[in-house]
Amino acid sequence: MASPKQQIIIDGGSGIRILSDRLMSGTFGSGRGPFHIFMTHFHWDHIIGLPFFTPHFLPGVQIHYYAVQSDIENLIKGVFRKPYFPVEFKSLPAKIFFHVLEPRKPFVLKDMTITPYKLDHPDECWGYKIESEGKAYSHCVDTEGTRVSREELAGDLPLYQGVDLMYFDAQYTFQDLAEKANWGHSAAQIGLDLAFRESIKQVLFTHHDPGASTQQIQDLKGQTLEYYNWRLEHAKDCNETIPEVKWDFAHEGLEVKL
Ligand SMILES: [Zn+2]
Ligand SMILES: [Zn+2]
Repeated sequence: MASPKQQIIIDGGSGIRILSDRLMSGTFGSGRGPFHIFMTHFHWDHIIGLPFFTPHFLPGVQIHYYAVQSDIENLIKGVFRKPYFPVEFKSLPAKIFFHVLEPRKPFVLKDMTITPYKLDHPDECWGYKIESEGKAYSHCVDTEGTRVSREELAGDLPLYQGVDLMYFDAQYTFQDLAEKANWGHSAAQIGLDLAFRESIKQVLFTHHDPGASTQQIQDLKGQTLEYYNWRLEHAKDCNETIPEVKWDFAHEGLEVKL
């Protein structure tokens, strides 16, 4: 029998509670772990779901936390602290381990290789390139995408190269981006430009504005399509060939097979 594939979780926003429900009800994997949670950074929207990840309360279950940030242990322990949360970290029944990752150095978990690369965000934030069985996924959230040229990206360029699927921050419209410099989020056009240049096969845009309605996200999608078509036409006019890029805006519960 083939051994089960390695699974990892990135960050612990509100979505991790839904994942937790699915794990516990047996509709997705097993609730027995071990679980491997890779943290990009520690802004509220990336940690707020962690106390509601049920495996923390199961005796004997192993949970491994990983981050480049060397104070990961204190940062996670701080989430389980009174009066923010009634159960203190030391009372959690699960066995919890902390691992500090080295920047840009591959980390191997069974059939998976995970490499952290730096993103452009006001507090230190690390994206991940995850490679397994010849496919590569690139997690680029949260990022403003202020460094785009190959020279500027330098050691972080591999995050965008040889990628089958990139998950990219597109909170703002391209017009908003100028007004919201240093807010740490990007626009779909920046992600598409990277995808065209580096031949990224597929892009999912995410980190929608918390206040955005479905209509506003549809509007962003419309603007992105206009830009996409313009890039293809412009390339044709200039006799340039640019690769076709499959892209969409992500939504909760979306599953993608590579
Ligand atoms: Zn953030
Ligand atoms: Zn965020």
